Amino acid sequence: MQPLISPDVFELDPMISDLRELVEVESPSLVIDQLELSAATLAAFIERHLGGECRLVASPAGPHVHWSGGGAPTVLILGHHDTVFPMGTLEKRPFTVTDGIATGPGVFDMLGGIVQAVHGLARLQHDGGDLGGVELLFSADEEVGSAESRELIEERALACGNVLVLEPSADGGSLKTGRKGCGTFEVIVGGRAAHAGLEPENGVNALIEMAHQVMAISGFGDSNVGTTVTPTVAAAGTTDNTVPAEARIRVDVRVESADEKQRVESAMAALTPVDPAASLTVLGQIGRPPMPESASSSLFPLAEAVSPGIVGLAVGGGSDGNFTAAIGVPTLDGLGAVGGGAHADTEHLVVDTMPARAALIGNLVGAILTRG
Ligand SMILES: [Zn+2]
Repeated sequence: MQPLISPDVFELDPMISDLRELVEVESPSLVIDQLELSAATLAAFIERHLGGECRLVASPAGPHVHWSGGGAPTVLILGHHDTVFPMGTLEKRPFTVTDGIATGPGVFDMLGGIVQAVHGLARLQHDGGDLGGVELLFSADEEVGSAESRELIEERALACGNVLVLEPSADGGSLKTGRKGCGTFEVIVGGRAAHAGLEPENGVNALIEMAHQVMAISGFGDSNVGTTVTPTVAAAGTTDNTVPAEARIRVDVRVESADEKQRVESAMAALTPVDPAASLTVLGQIGRPPMPESASSSLFPLAEAVSPGIVGLAVGGGSDGNFTAAIGVPTLDGLGAVGGGAHADTEHLVVDTMPARAALIGNLVGAILTRG
């Protein structure tokens, strides 16, 4: 194996100016013209540092950006260039670096991770490493469920056989070695409206029926096996004096195993009304399957070898790593930025961690390529 890349070789200023360039092209999911700009900016950034040419893969959710170093595919570096922040966020929270903290829409999830990875790979190349076998794929729709990128992600993951995901790190730079599967269900109760004062007995109260269902659903969780089932949003009724004809709730579900995914999906599908006059419609599924810790068992030791003391954690949130792990491809996640406040106004990145994270990616890719 070639000597490890030291974090000291990276200059912070070029990394920060690259990060600024990416952040300053806002890229909210499903805002196609912005995602086209963001894909073009990202492609130019990658080509400037790594050479070659990016392929822009058009999709109804905006273009995905794919780069290949040629050679037999060996490792896929996976990320996304969309963010959860609506247009105009940049005006309210412009890109800034203050006291070593970078802020601006997407710095942590996940533009900082992309910048670090590209700088790490550029260094690997500069040091004489060959990027043949390395592929980069940055999708346009991760934050809205990846419906338009999942097939491409799975195809490249299977071809490469190893996946490194640039989602933000867990606390203090920890890697994500396991992720829960997650999904959202919606339950719609149909009842019958009636005057609440004059003839309530002629109504079917959808809100009361929903109350029964909420209690049943909240019993589907099982903390012993890491399953959470959480009713989160509810709506019912029209006016103060009308028996509600409809009620709706949404339910957040997280599971650690395929068995639990199956069990909860079946339980949700089997819900039946307590009042036979009411109707129930259950929509949704656990769209992201769990990423079991076994998925990272071949890659995590390599990360430990190049970055002694690094920690791996199983976490609740899902990413595209869930898809690649579920089809049996070794996957290690959380290799991106160090900071916090993902999806929130408090989003931030700790700037002086960028060189070490760039070195981590460069060295990890080097180790995977050497191992073959
Ligand atoms: Zn993300």
